[in-house]
This record gives sequence, C-alpha cells and structure tokens, in this order.
Amino acid sequence: MYQYNTTTPIGYLKGVGPKKAELLENELNIRTIGDLIHHYPYRYIDKKKVVQINQLNAHSGWVLIKGTLSTIKTIGQHRKKRLSAQLKDSSGKVELLWFRSAVWIEKTLQNGTLYEVYGKINGFNGSLSIAHPEMTIYDPKKKTKSILPKYNSTEKLNQRSLSSNFLFKHIKTALDTVGATIPETLPAALRKKYALSSRREALHAIHLSDDFARIQNARTSLKFEELFYTQIKILRTKATKEKSKGFVFDKIGAHFHSFFNTQLEFELTGAQKRVVKEIRSDLKKGMQMNRLLQGDVGSGKTIVALLSILMALDNQYQAAIMAPTEILAKQHYASFSKIFEALGIQVCFLSGSTKTKERKAFSKGLAEGEISVIVGTHALLEESVEFKNLGLVVIDEQHKFGVAQRAKLWKKNPKGLPHILVMTATPIPRTLAMTLYGDLDISVIDQMPAGRKPVKTQHYFEKSRLKLFGELKAHLAQNRQIYIVYPLIEESKTLDYQNLMDGYDTLLRVFPLPEYKMSILHGRMKPAEKEFEMARFVKADTQIMVSTTVIEVGVNVPNASVMVIENAEKFGLSQLHQLRGRVGRGSAQSYCYLMSSYKLSENAKKRLSTMCETNDGFKIAEQDLKLRGPGDLMGTKQSGVLDFKLASLIEDEELVMQTREAAQKVLEHNLLEREDFHMVKANILKDKQSLSWSRIS
Ligand code: ADP
Ligand code: MG
Repeated sequence: MYQYNTTTPIGYLKGVGPKKAELLENELNIRTIGDLIHHYPYRYIDKKKVVQINQLNAHSGWVLIKGTLSTIKTIGQHRKKRLSAQLKDSSGKVELLWFRSAVWIEKTLQNGTLYEVYGKINGFNGSLSIAHPEMTIYDPKKKTKSILPKYNSTEKLNQRSLSSNFLFKHIKTALDTVGATIPETLPAALRKKYALSSRREALHAIHLSDDFARIQNARTSLKFEELFYTQIKILRTKATKEKSKGFVFDKIGAHFHSFFNTQLEFELTGAQKRVVKEIRSDLKKGMQMNRLLQGDVGSGKTIVALLSILMALDNQYQAAIMAPTEILAKQHYASFSKIFEALGIQVCFLSGSTKTKERKAFSKGLAEGEISVIVGTHALLEESVEFKNLGLVVIDEQHKFGVAQRAKLWKKNPKGLPHILVMTATPIPRTLAMTLYGDLDISVIDQMPAGRKPVKTQHYFEKSRLKLFGELKAHLAQNRQIYIVYPLIEESKTLDYQNLMDGYDTLLRVFPLPEYKMSILHGRMKPAEKEFEMARFVKADTQIMVSTTVIEVGVNVPNASVMVIENAEKFGLSQLHQLRGRVGRGSAQSYCYLMSSYKLSENAKKRLSTMCETNDGFKIAEQDLKLRGPGDLMGTKQSGVLDFKLASLIEDEELVMQTREAAQKVLEHNLLEREDFHMVKANILKDKQSLSWSRIS
C-alpha cells in the first residue's frame, strides 16, 4: 500500500484531485502535502468574540459579527458597479460591499438567513461598511472550533471553492493523513532549553488548536526552526571564509601621511576614525578582508575608502574602486585624481564608453604597474583588465551590483585574494545585518560630520504647486541650487519620460531663461551628454537640475540644498531617503519637498509622514522593513535567503539573538557530530542552497 508522507504530491490528498492541485501549485506554490501543512494561518478569528453591530466604529479593525442578511442589491453604474447588502442584529445594521465578482457572489448569498460575517471595518464618510467579508451561514447545531484560522487565498482560489475555510479543511485532512510521519528538526536538548514544542505538535497546534497560548508556542517553535537553520548555515560559511589568506599591508607609509597631514581639510569624525582603525587592523592580519561599511548618506564613507586605498598603495599594491553608475564613478575619479595627482600617483578611469585605444593603454599601465589606481563602473570586471598586483577593491553602493560580478573581482590577482571593502548607504538594523551579511564583517559610521543641519522636509499636494514655485524662487535668490526629481519605473519607461518632459516644459515657463538656467538628466541621454550637464550643475552654471532617479546614488554637490521629489508616493522609503541625501551636504539649511497626488494608499501616507518626521537612516530603514517586509531588500528576494514563512528579522529580534547563540554553541562544541544532532546535519547537507549563501555579499 502507498505510504503517504509530506513529500507526496498534493493531488493525491483525499478531496483535492488534479484540478485543484494545479490551482494550488500555480496560485500558492503548494506542490506537496508538506507544502500545504506549511501554509500557515495569517490570522485567527476568536469565535467567542462576536461583536454587537452598534459597538462597531471606524477603528474596530477585523471583527466577527452575527446577523441576518437583507436588501441584497446592485448599486452604481458600469465600472463603479458593486454589490451591497445589509447585515442586521438586535443592536443595529451594517453595510456589506463587494466590488469584484459581484454576479457570482450575488448567486451565493441567501436573503433572510443568519450569517457569521468576518471582515475589516471601513469608516469612510462616517458610515460603516465591510468590503468583501467572509460569509458563513450560521448553524447552531454544527460544532465548530472556537478559534478559526484564516489562510491567505487568492481570488481565483476563492472562486474555485478554495477559500480559507476549504484550505483549512484540506490542511486538516493532510495532518490526519501524514501527521504521524512529520520528521523532527530540532534536537530534544534544544527544544528543552528554549521551551519549544516538537515539530509535530507545533504544526498541529498552529492549524488546529483552540488555545491561543499553544498557538503562540507553536509559532515560536516554528520560527525558531527557521532562524536556527539560517544561523547555522551562515556561521558555517563564515567559518570557511575566515580561512582565506590575504595580503599583509603592515606599513602606514608616505602617501597616507602626506595626504593626512597636508591635504585632508577636515577632522575625521569619531566614527570615521574608528572605522579606519578597524580596516587597518584587518589589512595587516594576513586574512582576506571582507568588510561591509555601512553609513548613512553624507556620513563620509568616501574618505574612508580613500584612506584605505592609500594604505594599499603604501604597501606596493594596486587598488580599484567601482561604482554603480558612470556619473558616480566619474565623480569619484574627479575628486580622487586631484588628490592622487598631488601625491604623484597614477590613476585612470574606465567605463563602458572608454575608447578602445585608451582602454588598451590603461590595461598595459595596470599590468605593468605604472598605474596604481583604477576608478570605474562594472567595466572594471572585464577580463581584459589585468593588474600587476591588485590588493584592494572598494565597491561603492553595493546593492546595485550583482553577486556574480563581485566574485569576478576576486580573480584579478593570481597571487591571492584582494581585500574587499563594500560600502553601502542603506542602513540595516543589527539583527538583519547579522543575518544578511553573516559572512562579512561590519563597520558602521553612525555619526554625521559636525555642523550638518537636518533637512527640513514637507509634503505638498498638487494644489500647493504655486506656493512651491514661490519658495523655490526664494531659494534661488539665495544662490542655492535645486534638484527636481521625477520617478523612473522600469515597467513604464515611456510614460516616465513623458512625465519628465512635461514637467520640464512647465518648469521652463516658471523659471525662464536668461534669469534661470536649468540642466536636465535622464536615461535616454548619451554618457557624454549626461556628464556635460552634470558638470554644468557642479560648476553652478545651472541652478536647477531636473532629472530622473539617475541622481539617486552618491552624487555630491554641496551647494545644492533644495530637493523636490515629484510623485513622491511612487518611491519606496529607502529610495526617498537616498534622494534626500543629495541635499544637506553643505552648511546651509536644506529643504526637501515631497510632491504627491491626492490619492494615497495607507502605506504611501506612512512613507511620506515618516520622511517628514525623521532624517535618521536607521529609523527610516526600520520603518521601511516594517512596511515592505525584509523580503525584497537588496535583491534578497530571488536568493530566498530571507524568505521566512513566520519569522521576522525585525519583530523577532530576541529569537534571532537566541538562535544565533544556539547555533554558535552547536558549532563551537562540534555538536553536529553528536547522534542527537544528526538530523540537523542531514538537513543542512540536504539543502543544496546552502552554498549560495556565501554569495550574498
Ligand atoms: P557618503 O557617505 O554619502 O558617500 P561622502 O563621502 O560623499 O558621503 O561625504 C559627504 C560630504 O561630507 C563630502 O562633501 C565630504 O567631503 C564631507 N565630509 C566627509 N567627512 C567629513 C568630516 N569628518 N568633516 C566634515 N566634512 C566631511
Ligand atoms: Mg558616497
């Protein structure tokens, strides 16, 4: 007889069949019985808490109510057509609404019948309603659970009778069928120490329990498992990484001293000094440095990179600095070459648009050691670029670079692995950084250079546009420069371009020549044109820079102290923060105007208000993670690294720390070899993905 287990295809489960199986796979990525069991509830309804309709208000949130259905009717015309009904209990009545699938839903509703209704209260214009509620005919004879789990479903599934309730039924069947075969994943010793349930118990309770305390413990246990395995994998890769030998830079030499004593115009902040020390100590250890340098926009990461490069040069090694865009790379080149020239150091610039002849000359210079530093875009990765003795690679704004690209850099010196310094302006909360960059060491610049004033940020609706223009003129009268940024969304490049051009036309009328001079920058321009416009703005030949988000990364024009972000609601929080970071770099008070339309989602409102409330990159990053979930941070989505089903690196901070500690102990004491930990070892080996872990950064 066929033995069912968690790997059995879902189509074999009683009551599912091939059609539903296909739907489950396509809509929810559920392929096996085990996948179904791991489709966890996202919410629970407490059936004991039925709310009286007259007790409802706009802030009631998700509620369960019980009443008789009446007055089912279609209202509105054409595209605004929707289905409406009343639900009445002894205390009052409330409106139920359906905007989609109205025809189909109308057929299923029974007038005059007693229903249990579950949904979220809306309180628009003072009248209360529930949109797309869950409807269950109330049957007092039927014995039901007192806690009803709710599952994510999709519209398509709902229409094919795979609503939350049906999913629940199938999950119950699945647990009955294969529950006893569910393997344990955490050794008893760990479960005891952290008061966790067995996996079988936990999976049972999370779906079927009628006791909130048990559900809570089940969730904690399952989260623990997710996080524990992640930590073990990270720590293991870290352990193998640390064995890589690296070049020893033990001298602080003439270049470093000369720059530090004669060219450096400001005193380093305490945080910069600390980070430079950390890097210095890495570079002389004899191990390859793999360090992530985190620092908010404007915190002064470039100078740290420069000092690190000088350390490499003083030890007769070459250095490369790579930036994600041509503009940014050019900017680094411009500021570095001035400094390097004074020190008698040869530096070259390479990008996609470098001419072949020049390219050849650079390659020769680098291979022979004439040229010590190369600055450029990902063109640096090309095979034709060879070095005599590459010792350090600095990667600016790392999130724009792919993982595979970075690996190429490691091969640029046949004598060994160059040291790597990755710089990012995306501040990440500690628990997240630990997990995401487990195999990198982390340095943080958590202090701004003295004298910086926080950028004053305001949110304006379209109706305040005239006021905005007035204020911009006042800023221009003070000789300030202004950025005006338009969104660029990959899917609709043509539309965005149109949007930018329309905006530009309006601005030309409001800020006419010859009094005002404007630059424009967008993705359709040739690199040389972009550079020309950028240079005009840097020299203050133009006062206004109208652009798409190409301006986002790293651009540094200290006199530009005003930023206008058009359609600000279309940007994510971290992008808004990056954009705003272009201003506030000089000593003048800086301003940021967030322009938006009236139609704002709750999420967009929250983003804009967060921007108005704070300049703190860490606070913004945390809020961002709360709004988006960490899943899509820096392309981690595809990698699957942070694809936890239950755990959250932000909200479960304590569990993250606990699992880290547990994983550390396991590895330190070599527990994976102990018999009761064999399942852990087996699971790690089974997970082929574990190798790709180390490639995240
Ligand atoms: P980011 O970290 O965003 O790359 P930058 O390195 O571009 O920031 O630095 C922003 C600005 O601050 C630059 O104009 C830089 O010269 C200046 N700066 C950096 N460190 C200091 C400091 N310790 N004191 C004063 N100004 C500084
Ligand atoms: Mg920078």
